[in-house]
Amino acid sequence: GPTLLFVKTSQGKEEGRRFYACSACRDRKDCNFFQWEDEKVSETRLAAREEYNRNHQPPFTHRQNMDRYKNFVLLPLSKSRFCQECQQLLLPAEWEKHSDHQFLCDITTAQLKSPSQLLYPLENKKTNAQYLFADRSCRFLLSLLIDLGFRRVLSVGTPRLHEMIQSRVSQEDFSVRSLLLDIDFRYSQFYTEDEFCHYNMFNHHFFGGEAAHETCRKFLYEENGERVIMVTDPPFGGLVEALASSFKKLMAMWKGTEKEGHDNKEMPMFWIFPYFFESRILDFFPSFSMMDYQVDYDNHALYKHGKTGRRQSPVRIFTNLTPRVIVLPEEEGYRFCTVCQRYVSSGNQHCEICNSCTSKDGRRWKHCVLCKKCVKPSWFHCNNCNCCTLQKHSCEKTDVGCFVCGEAGHKRSACPRLSHT
Ligand code: SAH
Ligand code: ZN
Ligand code: ZN
Ligand code: ZN
Ligand code: ZN
Repeated sequence: GPTLLFVKTSQGKEEGRRFYACSACRDRKDCNFFQWEDEKVSETRLAAREEYNRNHQPPFTHRQNMDRYKNFVLLPLSKSRFCQECQQLLLPAEWEKHSDHQFLCDITTAQLKSPSQLLYPLENKKTNAQYLFADRSCRFLLSLLIDLGFRRVLSVGTPRLHEMIQSRVSQEDFSVRSLLLDIDFRYSQFYTEDEFCHYNMFNHHFFGGEAAHETCRKFLYEENGERVIMVTDPPFGGLVEALASSFKKLMAMWKGTEKEGHDNKEMPMFWIFPYFFESRILDFFPSFSMMDYQVDYDNHALYKHGKTGRRQSPVRIFTNLTPRVIVLPEEEGYRFCTVCQRYVSSGNQHCEICNSCTSKDGRRWKHCVLCKKCVKPSWFHCNNCNCCTLQKHSCEKTDVGCFVCGEAGHKRSACPRLSHT
């Protein structure tokens, strides 16, 4: 799909040179597409690009994968194999071709219903950054959505939430539906074209073309009062601006489905993202607020729950719903602040001066009268810098902070907040 227009700036210079690069891969190693904005591209190079694209298509189309799936479920258990190297369900005729690959045998129906457990997470930080919800967080999200009365979930980059909904649907009398939009095409082996669209959330591109667009549009159309919510958990290294632009397009799609118009309402949304992006998200979505709930992950060493002795997760829910209705579990240490009219972490003390529960990270923050705001407990007021900061810091100010967390002293590639072991 479309590339994004970036600008290369060098320090001190006002204007940089503009160029096009891949929207989905933030590392040139993963996709080396590069073109200056004003560059003339020769016919030969265009042809070479097209050739390259043709050679890099997935081995099967979504439709073909669906036909394969139908055949796969008819196989006896002893013939149900999954190639771990190719991340593909195998039909007996294909065994030969994969004979020197590692594979799993006896793939059960239960495994087919939990593809996120079968597929290995694509952890490459600069592209997929696939970090799967811990079961507890996923359950919490789903029951919250149900309690809020939603019956349709547009799952954008949330395969595990989608999976939880899909498997509940088949087990019991459960009326919630989900449509997964994700760039990870491996999921097309497990879900129909009405359940999964191959989608890039950095440029709002549906790989399935107009038909996929239509699937999404239909899904967003609220029949019989079935209310829709969008839940998204994008890669944290992604550009907020690009994401926001795509999400606005999805919101517009929702708005466009209602003939009477949704008045001035916005499509309800949960955007799951680290708290240090709060101001960036609010820049694009002023109606959003950040909830204190800490979202936990399975395969992220740092972002697991604090109570297990690990670091606390910095990942939060941003939403355009009224904060008051987002009920957070008391047994996990959240309480309701009657002044703020929202649930907060137990450590988050209401500051009388700010008149708000100011902690972002769950620890108790302290008020600095000079800065006129609450700051992290580990900070102190530096008279040189005229603001609160870490005890250990050099007073020379660097203006350019890290792109990820906004803090000075390191670049995005070295951001401690993105690191995982
Ligand atoms: N916590 C979620 C997964 C979040 S990880 C869960 O457990 O369900 C980020 C997800 O976004 C992954 O599924 C990844 O495949 C998807 N993703 C990454 N880049 C994307 C892009 N450009 N467009 C759409 N989806 C993308
Ligand atoms: Zn294989
Ligand atoms: Zn409060
Ligand atoms: Zn305060
Ligand atoms: Zn201060």
